[in-house]
Amino acid sequence: MRIKGHRGALAPLALILVTGLVAPPAHATPQVAPQTTPQISPQGGKVPVAEGYGGAVATVDLDASRAALKILKQGGNAIDAAVAAAATLGVTEPYSAGLAGGGFLVYYDARRKGVFTIDGRETAPRAMTSTAFEGIPFAEAVTSGLSAGVPGSVAQWDLALRRFGTLPLRKALQPAIEVAERGFVVDQTFHDQTADNADRFKDFTSTSRLYLPGGAPPAVGSVFRNHDLAATYRELGRRGPSWLYDGALGAEVVATVKRPPVTPGAARVVRPGLMELSDLRAYRALERPPTHVTVKGLDVYGMAPPSSGGSTVGEALGILSATGETEKAPLHAYLEASRLAFADRNAFVGDPAYVGVPLDELLSEGFAKERACLIGPAAMPNPAAPGSPDGTYAPCPAASPTGVPDGSDDLRDKGVQAVQGQGAQEEKPEGPETTHLAVTDKWGNVVAYNITIEQTGGNGIVVPGRGFLLNNQLTDFTFGPAPGDPNLPAPGKRPRSSMAPTIVLKDGRPLLAVGSPGGATIITTVLQILVNRFDLGMSLPDALAAPRASQRNAAATQAEPAFIDRYGPALTSLGHAFTPTPEIGAATGLEFLGRGRVQAVAEPARRGGGSALVVSPTP
Ligand code: GLU
Repeated sequence: MRIKGHRGALAPLALILVTGLVAPPAHATPQVAPQTTPQISPQGGKVPVAEGYGGAVATVDLDASRAALKILKQGGNAIDAAVAAAATLGVTEPYSAGLAGGGFLVYYDARRKGVFTIDGRETAPRAMTSTAFEGIPFAEAVTSGLSAGVPGSVAQWDLALRRFGTLPLRKALQPAIEVAERGFVVDQTFHDQTADNADRFKDFTSTSRLYLPGGAPPAVGSVFRNHDLAATYRELGRRGPSWLYDGALGAEVVATVKRPPVTPGAARVVRPGLMELSDLRAYRALERPPTHVTVKGLDVYGMAPPSSGGSTVGEALGILSATGETEKAPLHAYLEASRLAFADRNAFVGDPAYVGVPLDELLSEGFAKERACLIGPAAMPNPAAPGSPDGTYAPCPAASPTGVPDGSDDLRDKGVQAVQGQGAQEEKPEGPETTHLAVTDKWGNVVAYNITIEQTGGNGIVVPGRGFLLNNQLTDFTFGPAPGDPNLPAPGKRPRSSMAPTIVLKDGRPLLAVGSPGGATIITTVLQILVNRFDLGMSLPDALAAPRASQRNAAATQAEPAFIDRYGPALTSLGHAFTPTPEIGAATGLEFLGRGRVQAVAEPARRGGGSALVVSPTP
């Protein structure tokens, strides 16, 4: 793979040699032949792949995909449909998404022929200082008022609709209101997520009332209605975002954060939060330029800081383009590039309003080449130190007889001296939280949208009578003490994210959109899907379904059992080590197959499988 930094020119497609480390995929070429796929399974359930015309959507949930489809069929555009789906996920996937959360939206606008992004990341209250989480056990911080960031989703929906959409918020919320009132059928995933959270949900009167009716998680197959949330959405549509950001709903959020409704007798320590109505008043969703790298003649656009998604995926793609190991041993190279990119992410990426993020350099060809020098035929020592994205890059030292370049230690030392020790931060636990959706419309607009309330179940606290959970996004800050860390809390600051909604253009036209949940594994999931699709020649459905591994500059790579079974022995012989984890990510995506045909793709199995729908299976 060859890559140019975002200021560079296109590069030729490289020949990819698949070695014994990676068996050729069963379906090595993307599916392009027209076919009619059933959009609903015979049992009335969701199907993960759909192909057709006139618009398409992929989400984790059938009701949310249907909400988007309904808007598209009514003549709404991809932004309208994305907001409708996101609000519906607030009903059906309330532990991953909701109006009190945040997210990042990447958007290709067909008329303007450009990619835009909207940052709806939560912010720290103005009273929050760099030491706010010091000494607090992580689990205690999660379930607290302290971890609740100022919600971003509503402002983001509003900005997205006003800037790029066609519908007022009131109309975009309508499908979600209908689902909340009519109810949805509880599936195993919803049941299990409720059960996993039951210990803390029971400790809040508002949460247990809503999600533990009769004291237990709703049964699989039962219908779950959320009349409180329907009423909240309806009122929000009528009054507009200021109801939250400068009104009565905001006052209720603040009261809940400062005085969580702890169940009498609960033993839990619940720290109150610092949020004030003035913090809500100060909140703004922000339009930002996307990150951009050019790789194999493809233009890859992602989310800029405060998310580390675009910079880390982009840097890793650059490294993969610059190392010869990509062609010899693609999965080994994937793990090594990811390790290096994570060392740099941890050292350099934070909210750009508070820290200088060397974004252009992190995505530059020179830096990618310098970092790629550290990749040899065997796994490098852990942890990798961060590099020096300073604009001055040395050519690779000559290779030693061991295959590892002589002088690569010097390159490592340069990084160590630049940012002493910051590449080796302790990883926080990563779960399957958050969600991603992808939508396109008949005009060719495309949305890749990550939404989250952080942990599955957020901070566990429902705003009484309003039907939604608060986020615990501020636990994405570095807890410290960690002098010089770019991601320490500060007043009004946005915690660094890993969300990586990604849109790929070829010759200026959309080719692919993809994204995933999963905390910091989001970055590796998106990267691995791009490697699967473009380096290994898999179809997008195969690229999503393939077993995953996530190397984030740790001694052992987290990997799904199927990945370890298939590739573990060969990679272990190169010095890699693995920790099994049942599931990584729950991706959704779109591929544009030409002549108006689009393929919507969700997971076939992870997190219970997702739902892909198209407006019309025929042209
Ligand atoms: N808080 C995470 C992030 O912004 C998203 C939630 C998750 O998937 O862990 O990176």
